[in-house]
Amino acid sequence: MRRLCRQCRAELGVDDDACRVCGALNPVPLPWYTPVLGAAMLAILVWLLVDVDALVRFFQSD
Ligand SMILES: [Zn+2]
Repeated sequence: MRRLCRQCRAELGVDDDACRVCGALNPVPLPWYTPVLGAAMLAILVWLLVDVDALVRFFQSD
C-alpha cells in the first residue's frame, strides 16, 4: 500500500513515520487488532509469571 505525505504528498517508505522531503510526521497506521493482540500477550505473560497453583491453593485453603 502506497502512503503519501499528508503535507507535501511525497511518497513515503513503508516504515517511515517522518517525510524525507519536508519532515512532516505521518504516523504509520496500526491495524485494529493491535491493542487486542497486545492485551492477549500481556494476559499470557501474566499467566506465565504468576504462580497459578499457589493462588488456587490460597483460595481453596480454609
Ligand atoms: Zn512531506
